[in-house]
Amino acid sequence: MFSKKKITIAYSVEKCQKCGMLRKRKFSEGDVLFDISSKCSSCNGTTRIEKIFAETLEQ
Ligand SMILES: [Zn+2]
Repeated sequence: MFSKKKITIAYSVEKCQKCGMLRKRKFSEGDVLFDISSKCSSCNGTTRIEKIFAETLEQ
């Protein structure tokens, strides 16, 4: 029977344009691929959304 519950979680990967640091975080409403996202936490450069993907987890 359907004893396992599947949940899908979307993630966004941000990449800093300056130092190349990658940061994975949960997808939030309004995220667009290759859009300027936020400030890099290590060099204060601009980060861009490099990848958006989803993972399916079984609970
Ligand atoms: Zn950086």
